[in-house]
Amino acid sequence: MDKKIKINGKEIRYSLRRRKGLKSMRLAVYPDGAFVVTAPKWYPVYIINRFIEEKFDWIWEKVKDIDFQEISKKKKSEKTNYKEKKEFARAVIESRVKFFNNFYNFFYNRISIKNQKSCWGSCSRKKNLNFNYKAAFLPDNLRDYVVVHELCHLEELNHRKNFWKLVEKTFPDYKILRNNLRKIRSSNLSNLSKGDS
Ligand SMILES: [Zn+2]
Repeated sequence: MDKKIKINGKEIRYSLRRRKGLKSMRLAVYPDGAFVVTAPKWYPVYIINRFIEEKFDWIWEKVKDIDFQEISKKKKSEKTNYKEKKEFARAVIESRVKFFNNFYNFFYNRISIKNQKSCWGSCSRKKNLNFNYKAAFLPDNLRDYVVVHELCHLEELNHRKNFWKLVEKTFPDYKILRNNLRKIRSSNLSNLSKGDS
């Protein structure tokens, strides 16, 4: 839940998360300016507010230099980007999944294209494949590596030997690809123009 408070005349947005097992409150300010308050599920709002007020100085130290308007602008443009590129990404990823699955022949339910922050793809126990839309804009070999990696999770939902043996069938040099992929953070992948050609 997104909320706002005013500290020193500056509007600060924060997300309130409720957690069942939590015993006390937690505050975290992330480098992108995201301010997250995590509270036990049963905490009333006035206690949460009092806690935030008590930590006023600490919070102010962390957020005073953050340009929240700039950040929300950036977030908005990222959202627009995702909307614009999603269908292209779906077409690319689906065709690559089909292409490689001609060989593997694994069963899957659904392919979802998402706007995830920190991962390129995932595979669920229910055999659904999820891909970060930005994966479609990676260099071809890395994009295909992401696809094959998730595809192989349909058979081996872990990173043990047998899993890599499956990946290896397509990419004998998967270790190099994996390392190269690690160097690219999806948040830094700014060139999303490939889809226009
Ligand atoms: Zn994996």
